[in-house]
Amino acid sequence: MSEGAPAGPLLVVEGLNTSYGKISILRDVSFAVGAGEVVALLGLNGAGKTTTIRSVLGLTPPRSGSIRFDGLEIAGRPPYRVAQLGVGYVPEGRRMFKDLTTLENLQLAENGRRGDWTIARVLEHLPKLAELRSRKAGRLSGGEQEMLAIGRALVSNPRLLLVDEPSQGLAPLIVEDVYRILAELKAHGVAILLVEQNALLALKLADRAFVLDSGKIVYSGSASELRADRERIRALMGLTDAAVEAAAPPPAP
Ligand code: ATP
Repeated sequence: MSEGAPAGPLLVVEGLNTSYGKISILRDVSFAVGAGEVVALLGLNGAGKTTTIRSVLGLTPPRSGSIRFDGLEIAGRPPYRVAQLGVGYVPEGRRMFKDLTTLENLQLAENGRRGDWTIARVLEHLPKLAELRSRKAGRLSGGEQEMLAIGRALVSNPRLLLVDEPSQGLAPLIVEDVYRILAELKAHGVAILLVEQNALLALKLADRAFVLDSGKIVYSGSASELRADRERIRALMGLTDAAVEAAAPPPAP
């Protein structure tokens, strides 16, 4: 974020209610993501995290509520319109064209769009992808596919990136790589709404966090405060003591 620029909310979600058929999932969900800010969206399996992302993207339009992106009401707009406005998506499970190469996947995503994040710049920031430019996406490892999914979202030059479970199924060292890239994007002013099962990992990167439980927000506040309050994390996310300690060992004396 440039100095002196107000961190005006880029995304403002208010009173969101989303259902699948008759089954109500999100109930009165409100939150905001400021320009250049990383906000973690946490919660147990089935809490409604992916549904929140799908609502913002227009993949599952909400039944009621408001979603404003850069001041524009986007609730119920089709996904391609939301994407055109500058919302990028790194889906859970990566979902790329497996028979196309790394480079072809990036070219397809770029599709004539102009902006700072050209394919050349993405490959410079993600040198691993440059090495793998000719390899079919289906032959990439899980970590490499996650990087390609991030690269693909970047070439659309998003102002806000919705990232769903980037650590899922990846070895710890690869997860570190992926988070290093997300931190770099944050440093370059890309706002990120980060959905994670691994709460402590996400809280390290995030400025603010909110926690969903059964489709309702049960915590909304500072990421560092939540990270320091292990009791709270245990209570909110049902983590065991061992899981909390493993993810955030106490500082050495
Ligand atoms: P996970 O970490 O498991 O992805 P989540 O917090 O992202 O969890 P959602 O995927 O948003 O949770 O799911 C919220 C609830 O909606 C769950 O109870 C899920 O079973 C239900 N659900 C998700 N997709 C559908 C669908 N297409 N039709 C009906 N119910 C659905």
